[in-house]
Amino acid sequence: MTLPIHVQGAWFAGALLFILGLKGMSSPSTARRGIVWAGVGMGVAVLATFLIPGLRNLGLMLAALALGAAVAWVSGKRVKMTDMPQMVAIYNGMGGGAAAAIAAIEFARGDAHGPVLTALATLGALIGAVSFTGSCIAFAKLQGLMKRAVRLPAQNIVNLVLAALALVLGGVMVAAAPPRPELIYAFFVVALALGLVVTLPIGGADMPVVISLFNAFTGLAVGFEGYVLGNPALIIAGIVVGAAGTLLTQLMAKAMNRPLTNIIFTPISGAAQGGQAVEGTMKEVGPLDAAAMMRYAGKVIIVPGYGMAVAHAQHKVWEMAELLEEAGVEVKFAIHPVAGRMPGHMNVLLAEAGVPYDKIFDLQEINGEFPQADVALIIGANDVVNPVARTDKSSPIYGMPILDADKAHNVIVIKRGKGTGYSGVENALFYEDNCRMLYGDAQPVAGEIIGHLKSMG
Ligand code: NDP
Repeated sequence: MTLPIHVQGAWFAGALLFILGLKGMSSPSTARRGIVWAGVGMGVAVLATFLIPGLRNLGLMLAALALGAAVAWVSGKRVKMTDMPQMVAIYNGMGGGAAAAIAAIEFARGDAHGPVLTALATLGALIGAVSFTGSCIAFAKLQGLMKRAVRLPAQNIVNLVLAALALVLGGVMVAAAPPRPELIYAFFVVALALGLVVTLPIGGADMPVVISLFNAFTGLAVGFEGYVLGNPALIIAGIVVGAAGTLLTQLMAKAMNRPLTNIIFTPISGAAQGGQAVEGTMKEVGPLDAAAMMRYAGKVIIVPGYGMAVAHAQHKVWEMAELLEEAGVEVKFAIHPVAGRMPGHMNVLLAEAGVPYDKIFDLQEINGEFPQADVALIIGANDVVNPVARTDKSSPIYGMPILDADKAHNVIVIKRGKGTGYSGVENALFYEDNCRMLYGDAQPVAGEIIGHLKSMG
């Protein structure tokens, strides 16, 4: 069916808004605007769908829209910043599932699409179904609903057999178009199982990378189904999401020094093994001395990590930084690409607290400045400042790029105790002569430092 020009035009306009939205999201200062543009694009694309002549099931469509919008509104309002990765996982899974469902309906209707479009629909269905079940497992793991990574005997062989079976069944569906219902069921069962089986053994530490990979898959699946339906909004949105997801996956894998093949085929779970033992003792400092060290410094670089996020300390940290600046200290924030539990986590938290973007620097920009810093203040960060990543070839995090906080004249680390970071690797920095530990929850500790800074005038 040829669609009216105003529907095609509106979809195209929606797709352009997605692109503009994504462009806006590339910088923190325009990110909010980008989100709004992409949201408007989505609204336009959805509304245009209702203008297709001869639509059936309008009541069902409206009910689905109302239900989806209500769930998204409530969950979007309630989600905590630290729970964002699982939120992204489940939304992404829904996208993959929707793409697979579109394909399932097209197969079930038995419409003659020709071999090329049927092949695209089949590929989209396979990728979407894998992304759906895989993202559901990722959600369950990050939400703590599933505590253990489950590894089957001969895991990689099972993965390969299921993938091959899905491809063969898909091939038969294309050749037999229109496919028989039993074939469609068998294909979807295998594709859904593949997503489950591939994701089950992957540990929580690698999960955000996997989510990002599934995000790219969902984009691809949506793009393929867009071709099948002749919908430019789906094609362009799918391509944009697929490309962005692929780039993000690469960036994260690189920043964690974990090749993607390694994450999927030889997953680690729980605390990492290996690495040399670290010798020496950790030396303590109190909030008063820490405040004085920073108050009389020329330059302080603040390194926030996951602990700052869970402690919700960003507002206090910014208040502390402002007091230091008022006292004439130069203050900068250094952000590692995987600080926290998802890319951009720290940037968003700091922006939310009002830290100006020109004070936030990424790893390449700031690393050369640590040797000139009088104090590096590390707040709830651990792995991203662990120098063994540079020095200990036997360490599981060897090769991961880190912030060179150890090169500052003095280092102050705020954390609750002597625990390791996410990787489970002991941090050699905490034992260095220039490092002092300030034990406590990041928020009250920052509050105490603020109190001392105020009394110093
Ligand atoms: P880490 O998880 O390495 O360390 C966080 C530290 O914060 C812990 O050592 C903990 O020590 C401390 N902490 C926890 N709660 C508090 C609190 N309330 N107050 C003060 N301190 C606290 O975090 P990083 O940000 O340094 O590193 C991120 C890790 O996450 C890396 O291993 C990275 O690979 C991984 N990761 C990141 C992804 C991303 O995209 N950002 C994706 C996947 C994984 P203590 O218990 O003693 O308080």
